[in-house]
Amino acid sequence: MNFNVQMVHTMPNLFTQLLAQRPYLLADGALGTNLFLMGLQTGDAPEIWNTAHPEKIADLAQRFIDAGSDILLTNTFGGTRYRLKLHGAQDKVKEINIAAVSILKELTDKSPRDIVIAGSMGPTGEILEPAGTLTYDDAYVAFKEQAQALKEGGVDVLWIETISDVSEAKAACEAAASTGLPVVYTMSIDTNGRTMMGVTPAQLVALNAQLTHSASACGTNCGVGAAEVIAAIMNMKIAADEQKTDPILVAKANCGLPEYVAGKIVYSGTPALMADYARLALDAGAKIIGGCCGTTPEHISVMRQALAEHQRCPAPDITKIEQLLGPISTGAKAQLSGDLSIAGGSLSGSARERRSRRSRH
Ligand SMILES: [Zn+2]
Repeated sequence: MNFNVQMVHTMPNLFTQLLAQRPYLLADGALGTNLFLMGLQTGDAPEIWNTAHPEKIADLAQRFIDAGSDILLTNTFGGTRYRLKLHGAQDKVKEINIAAVSILKELTDKSPRDIVIAGSMGPTGEILEPAGTLTYDDAYVAFKEQAQALKEGGVDVLWIETISDVSEAKAACEAAASTGLPVVYTMSIDTNGRTMMGVTPAQLVALNAQLTHSASACGTNCGVGAAEVIAAIMNMKIAADEQKTDPILVAKANCGLPEYVAGKIVYSGTPALMADYARLALDAGAKIIGGCCGTTPEHISVMRQALAEHQRCPAPDITKIEQLLGPISTGAKAQLSGDLSIAGGSLSGSARERRSRRSRH
């Protein structure tokens, strides 16, 4: 018995191995927006395609492999029973999550390169107490059900993403860690330098120390464009220094901003912009770099090339980020200058505050 327990803990894990060996890892791009390009209809659950159209999920994954991704996320973002319930599939958590992993496993087993399979776990879609009605324990149980299915399927790491609330992130992380697999968590910084629920990059970093088993990496995904993700990574770096910790950081930015063109949502980011973003993400201190909504295999391929040829530079300043990637929110800028208050991050007064702060130096 003891021998077995020890075996589990010393068994090499592809994700932690590559993380230790490589200067950076390239993740993949978007699933949802690319599946819409492949025929998924608004209102459909992408996860249903794991069993209904596995060949389409495999096709997209193969294109990310060909583009150079080191990490592939499973098509299980909405794979908890709460999200699947919206499609009457709440009793298929196990089947759908295992199917998603199998599709990727078949491809990675054939690949001559090492490719990590990351089990994507998105938010439940419910709001946790006290702001909402879902209890921490119920969220934990739902995440654990999904995490166990992803483990059974054979993922290398559990990948919690697009979370807005600290309690939900914690429930997901604890549930994921209970499987014994490495865990990564990323939150969506989309509201003036914070998540929708007000979480700052500093609080995101601080969460890791509150977990029973610390995560292998943390960071940010999705949100409002690449510039904001770079600012968030820099704010996480500053916070980590202050908290005397040094987490591995993840940047998975959307491909520019969504625009409504001819009745469709399209993302503004060109491959050149995503190449700049990848280089700045590395310079800012991210070790795992990928794309979120709007990021196609073509973007990932250009990012791979950009990272391979890049000579690492010191972290960029605000001017450089804005020149290359577009504007940074007032809130994120206030945080970069050391002001974590809501007032400092609010639209009014913060510029004046920053100026007066600067004039004191
Ligand atoms: Zn996204």
